[in-house]
Amino acid sequence: MVVHKKAGLKEFELIRWIQRQAGCSSHLTMGIGDDCSIQPQQEGQDLLTSTDLFIEGVHFRRDWSSWFDLGRKAAAVNISDIAAMGGTPQSLFLAIGRPNEMSDAEVEEFISGFLAEVEIHGAVLAGGDTCSSPGPLLISVTVQGTVATTEAICREGASYGDAIYVSGSLGDSALALQLLKEGQQPDPYLAGRFHTPTPQVALGRELSKRQLATAMLDVSDGLLADLNHILTASGVGAELDLAKIPLSEPFQSALSENFSLIDLALAGGEDYELVFTSPLKDLDSQIELESAVRQIGIISLEPGLRVRQKSGELYHCQRGGFDHFT
Ligand code: ADP
Ligand code: MG
Repeated sequence: MVVHKKAGLKEFELIRWIQRQAGCSSHLTMGIGDDCSIQPQQEGQDLLTSTDLFIEGVHFRRDWSSWFDLGRKAAAVNISDIAAMGGTPQSLFLAIGRPNEMSDAEVEEFISGFLAEVEIHGAVLAGGDTCSSPGPLLISVTVQGTVATTEAICREGASYGDAIYVSGSLGDSALALQLLKEGQQPDPYLAGRFHTPTPQVALGRELSKRQLATAMLDVSDGLLADLNHILTASGVGAELDLAKIPLSEPFQSALSENFSLIDLALAGGEDYELVFTSPLKDLDSQIELESAVRQIGIISLEPGLRVRQKSGELYHCQRGGFDHFT
């Protein structure tokens, strides 16, 4: 008798196993392992593709968000994967597993939000699938975009001495989620960061066109976990400066009452900001960019990821990044 044990592999162990089984193909420049796959097209263009699941009770709760905002977010977090490669989003595919008790009005509101977000980015809903679900609402979104050949920014290009930058601010979305879980209402800014994140498409495009970044990804699982993907893929380490992590005013005001909240900025997730490395120092003060970026650290030869406090002592984050199986 075959005994099926509960999930034992961690999320990334399972993905690595799938990656080995799948192998690679000469028609792809990049397969499994980055924010998007890269498939060369004719005339100097590469096709970027990424897919993500959005499951009720895992990724969202219907009592916390409007259906319109959930639709927007389902599109935004996928478009963010195109931004993370420096590409332009073009076509989205939306598959819906609809629970019986979800009304027509709710489905319509969800789709309206999805379409509104898609339109903001000049993309289009190009297909999908619709069926019933005996359990929770299941959403699967695939996004395709384009990038000029050689301009896609992957996770594997970071080198010793590169500066590490992050756009916007970190921790806002995770703080909003924590407040919602505690039954509190986050202030409108924090709530907006959680319900309707903004994919950094223009900044990603600019960094790739001007070839300013050596490696890049979007922060979905938390800064430390996501930066670790760059370090592993590039075979380097990093040192971060805790005092330089960019924080919004509402986040700082919560932090002034409880310093342990800093772990939400380091490992909270769902920021959908871009983290990238660049040989150029002081990019934040020297170059005018689409969005504000902040240098938060440096790539080191010594493997691993260290976060240093102002005093020079190491800071140990108490939170792990998000893993679906732990
Ligand atoms: P992201 O946070 O950008 O969604 P993931 O951590 O989900 O990235 O995935 C990492 C890589 O593994 C991506 O290249 C993704 O396409 C691939 N991947 C994840 N799950 C699977 C799967 N079930 N089958 C094939 N590839 C997968
Ligand atoms: Mg994913």
